[in-house]
Amino acid sequence: MNTKELDARYVAGTYKRFPVEIVSGKGSVVLDETGKEYIDMGSGIGVTAFGIADPEWQKAVTEQIGRVQHMSNLYYTEPCARLAELLCKRTGMAKVFFSNSGAEANECAVKVARKYAAEKKGPDCFTIATLKNSFHGRTLTTLAATGQEHYHELFQPLTPGFVHVEAENMEELEEASKKAPLAAILIECIQGEGGVIPLSKEYVQAVADFAKKNDILLMVDEVQTGNGRTGALYAWQNYGIVPDLFSTAKGLGGGLPLGATVLSEKVQDVLGFGDHGSTFGGNPVSCAAALSVLSRIDDELLSEVREKGRYLFETFEGAPGVEAVSGMGLMFGIKTGKPVSEVVNECIEKGVLCLSAKDKVRLLPALNIPMETLQKAAGIILSACVE
Ligand code: PLP
Repeated sequence: MNTKELDARYVAGTYKRFPVEIVSGKGSVVLDETGKEYIDMGSGIGVTAFGIADPEWQKAVTEQIGRVQHMSNLYYTEPCARLAELLCKRTGMAKVFFSNSGAEANECAVKVARKYAAEKKGPDCFTIATLKNSFHGRTLTTLAATGQEHYHELFQPLTPGFVHVEAENMEELEEASKKAPLAAILIECIQGEGGVIPLSKEYVQAVADFAKKNDILLMVDEVQTGNGRTGALYAWQNYGIVPDLFSTAKGLGGGLPLGATVLSEKVQDVLGFGDHGSTFGGNPVSCAAALSVLSRIDDELLSEVREKGRYLFETFEGAPGVEAVSGMGLMFGIKTGKPVSEVVNECIEKGVLCLSAKDKVRLLPALNIPMETLQKAAGIILSACVE
């Protein structure tokens, strides 16, 4: 059997795959099993921050594999400690808990919020408010946090203790906090899976003020928006707020599994010995990979991300077949006149891999995609929007 047949026969059918097998790549170009080239405008859903087979990332990973590929968290390993230091120094945060995915990074955030609130405000204060149309992961707790009913239906009962409020509506948040005392508010600054929808600065700042005034933890989910994606290292830095903690994953490891829950001084010691753990959390190879990624997301790269983002806005806004555009930096949504699946399929035929999110084409290219490659992909996507 070939790969597609084997996959259909043996891999659990949870993914609707496109009929393309990727066998290799370099930077922002990948090749399928027939040798056809595609420009990769999805980067594994915002994961391969420096593209496929990035030499510096490879070097960091292979060097670490040559030293030690895994140690339990019973012992110290340098990449884990150095990465935690770098994350804290770049964000003003105090400590980091490492896990393996975005959902787990959010699970840790939920545990921090529950313990903090129980200790400070008593056992009745455990509810976490999240936004309608949000996405926070696929575990039962992060599904409960996810404000989209259709993900919940088949998996009841979910973890209790979540309320979902309308974005941009402070009244709904205040009402929710009167019905059940809130331990925390969890937001994505730009809803990714929800359709590339940025929250307004006014709303995010009002949420932050409300949280601070009421000693409710403000938690930002940076799983998709983080690690340079929006033109800031973390999206909350675009909003003039500082959360009590934030979660991140995806691009952090540049292609190896790594989640991080990054804690401010206020909550740095909420979780103590034995309160949380993960066999692979802080794995030295994943952390060495992340050090190579994070140390290269400097001001120069972030300014290039913003410039490429401006290019996408200028190219697509008002173009034929394009109804609206949204996003920030290299997290970009295109509402097309044609059904989004038709546009994505036509792009595949023409050699561009795009993502979708709700009714939008979603672009999350590698942060270092060359301008000419981005321009070439944009031209092909534009043609797919009209033909
Ligand atoms: N949070 C957000 C905002 C996400 O976009 C995702 C995944 O798309 C997750 C959490 C879950 O991350 P993971 O799939 O790594 O568990």
